[in-house]
Amino acid sequence: MKLVSRYTDIAEQFAIADRPSPVGEPSLLLFNDAVAKQLSIDVSSAQQAAVLSGNQIDSTVAPVALGYSGHQFGHFSPRLGDGRAHLLGAVADQQGLLWDIQLKGSGATPFSRGGDGRCAIGPAVREYIMSEAMHALGVPTTRCLAVVATGETVYRQPPQPGAIVTRVASSHIRVGSFQYLATQGDVVGLKALADLAITRHYPHIQSTGPERYLAFLSEVIKKQIELVVSWMRVGFIHGVMNTDNTLVSGETIDYGPCAMMNSFDFDTVFSSIDRQGRYAFGNQPNIANWNCARLAESLIPLINEDDEQAVALLSPLINSFAEKFNHAFTDMWAQKLGLDGHKPEDSKLVAELLALLKDNSLDYTNTFDSLTRSLKGSVTLPSVLSSWSEKWAHRTHKQSYSIMRKVNPTLIPRNYMVEKILKDFAESNHSPILSEYLQALQNPYTQSINESWNHAASDEKNYQTFCGT
Ligand code: AMP
Ligand code: MG
Repeated sequence: MKLVSRYTDIAEQFAIADRPSPVGEPSLLLFNDAVAKQLSIDVSSAQQAAVLSGNQIDSTVAPVALGYSGHQFGHFSPRLGDGRAHLLGAVADQQGLLWDIQLKGSGATPFSRGGDGRCAIGPAVREYIMSEAMHALGVPTTRCLAVVATGETVYRQPPQPGAIVTRVASSHIRVGSFQYLATQGDVVGLKALADLAITRHYPHIQSTGPERYLAFLSEVIKKQIELVVSWMRVGFIHGVMNTDNTLVSGETIDYGPCAMMNSFDFDTVFSSIDRQGRYAFGNQPNIANWNCARLAESLIPLINEDDEQAVALLSPLINSFAEKFNHAFTDMWAQKLGLDGHKPEDSKLVAELLALLKDNSLDYTNTFDSLTRSLKGSVTLPSVLSSWSEKWAHRTHKQSYSIMRKVNPTLIPRNYMVEKILKDFAESNHSPILSEYLQALQNPYTQSINESWNHAASDEKNYQTFCGT
């Protein structure tokens, strides 16, 4: 694995040299051959556990922990950072694009704030399953290369086996990374970080001066809109959309308290600590908008020495979020319903359907899958949708089925399936169903329905997920 370092020139406290703490008995549990192939990762199988636990580090590799701030549930923490992760460096893929390789759960760092720097096996395996599923669903996401068991116990409630997950991301530049440098008043570092993010993610931005950073914000807004729309298309609830968990690349990161919606309701929340519903399914666009506003604030020094003038230039971009989102969201529903173009009355058609779904506790995924299949005559729709579907029939056309089939999954990583697998791993470092399940999740739009993997799970009303475990 040929690694280069990427963040060491940004600012002194930005990437702090720090080494993973060795673990007792590393053993490889999961390895992602497709990602390894894409990145030409050539670690021999005899060495995988040692390398991907951080026990064995090549002399050319300089691991770092990155600093970042974050608004967590709206409250600002100036110094969060990688408290349980080490970035080994970046590898180039076959196209020459760089991908960060990060070990998560690899021990305490200067950012641990009293935490143990470790990760339990459950969250590590969850990140692996969810990111693979999301990737196959066509949602931008970080990937997982591997999960290694540490052979050690992590003291959670209840104690669990420890694990280290190898995360692959096109970068680890978060909104919180900008906040970190802005809070320190480090304008040079801020500019270096913005330039790195532009080079890496938005190389078509060629302008200089304020225009350059306004264009950057505009691109981040666009990517965040695409991201949240694709989450909502598949019923994903991130659960902890703090600014430190928002990448400027527009990839999903941090699969802590995430969950998939079952019966449709914009107010759906699963995270145990999200009592106000800040990160509810339907509030995700507002929060993405809010997070982009926090990025805009951090960019102020790069726009103008005069704050007011900078704000006057940045605000219109932030204010355009809602309209841009609505446009993309309307398009999403049109695709999910295979509508023939856009008509003013379509919003009513969509609203009526969503009200029927909510009032009758209909499963989001299965209903849209049934609507798709109904165009081929292969399913009977629930009777509560009869009169609505007559109106919908006037708006479908020849291509509706193929459009709908590409956007309405037939298989999603159901919460109960993920929990079942995590329970298996907590008990025996293994799950007999995982490999077949991961295989099925690779084809979420064509997979024929296996009832036991895909039931509507309307009994999950009390399902709860947890952060940072
Ligand atoms: P997360 O909830 O995973 O986004 O983490 C939020 C912050 O808490 C980040 O700065 C993490 O590095 C830190 N953190 C989470 N778990 C641990 C842990 N076990 N030890 C040290 N830091 C942690
Ligand atoms: Mg995080």
